[in-house]
Amino acid sequence: MSRAFQASLPLARHGVDRDHATRSDPAALDALWASAEARVLLLHRGRALAATGSNPVGWDGFGSAPEVPVRPVIALTEPRLMAEAVRAAEGDSAPVRLYLGRVTAGSAELPEGSPLFALALDDLLAESYPAPAEWLDLRMVAADLDDVGAGVFTEALAMANWHATHRFCPRCGSSTTVEAGGWVRRCTKEDIELFPRTDAAVIVGIVDADDRLLLGSNALWENNRFSLLAGFVEPGESLESAAVREIGEESGVVIDDPEYVGSQPWPFPASLMVGFMARVSADHEAELRPDGDEILELRWFTRDEIADPRSDVLLPGRSSIARAIVERWFGGPLPERERA
Ligand SMILES: [Zn+2]
Repeated sequence: MSRAFQASLPLARHGVDRDHATRSDPAALDALWASAEARVLLLHRGRALAATGSNPVGWDGFGSAPEVPVRPVIALTEPRLMAEAVRAAEGDSAPVRLYLGRVTAGSAELPEGSPLFALALDDLLAESYPAPAEWLDLRMVAADLDDVGAGVFTEALAMANWHATHRFCPRCGSSTTVEAGGWVRRCTKEDIELFPRTDAAVIVGIVDADDRLLLGSNALWENNRFSLLAGFVEPGESLESAAVREIGEESGVVIDDPEYVGSQPWPFPASLMVGFMARVSADHEAELRPDGDEILELRWFTRDEIADPRSDVLLPGRSSIARAIVERWFGGPLPERERA
């Protein structure tokens, strides 16, 4: 694994100490929430309230992002300055208060040690922030956020997604209550702790004997979009076995010894993308057989083809580990290409 590669992954960055010790101290959490240094990130339907900047609405994360007039910045608000309706919400209508940790990469606006929280607002509470308030999509802005912004948005979104689908105990169906600054839910019937889950997925940069890179076009995309092959790790499976199996299923290609290169969280809704590089096995013929279900087209690309300014191939967006793995093979940043 290369440290530089890992540091290049937009969603793997963070500027926060998650401060595990304070989570289990409700009085300390209340004191942090009430402190003048506390800041809160507001989410609505997976988007974060923006301080400045505009959201490139309608962009899907492939190809070049539309021009935005101002670099996007997440609003980190003082709790006492939140909208009245949000501050007053109680009981079931109150959003879960998620404790994200303390700032380590401090700045003039956000000093080191500042405690950070997040609240996921429902539709009604989000109406307290009507236009011109803007909400940012993590996939679209991740690469343009600073380390603290990218880290807390990713952490908050992953946690909010877990809470949204774990209000009831998966074992007995009883209601659950929130503890530990949002990091635990407890079953009210069985008195057991439930912890946030992450789904591991593997994504593989595959090269052939001529050092060409294998990219596939997904059935859900328009037909000139290409990316790396990826898939979820199944229960009872190692990362390496999942990489070999997924690539075989989706492409018919047999790979040898996938080599780990780095990972980044991908909270859409709950994935951890684990990146590998692999070579096609010399012992098997490298005939491409797209599965026709998930993957409709497969192609080997040379670096010249990727660099060709006349190409209409759309490559993955800057927030993705797919983009970073393609660039690792390519040897530098991919050429920015306007959408056809
Ligand atoms: Zn239960």
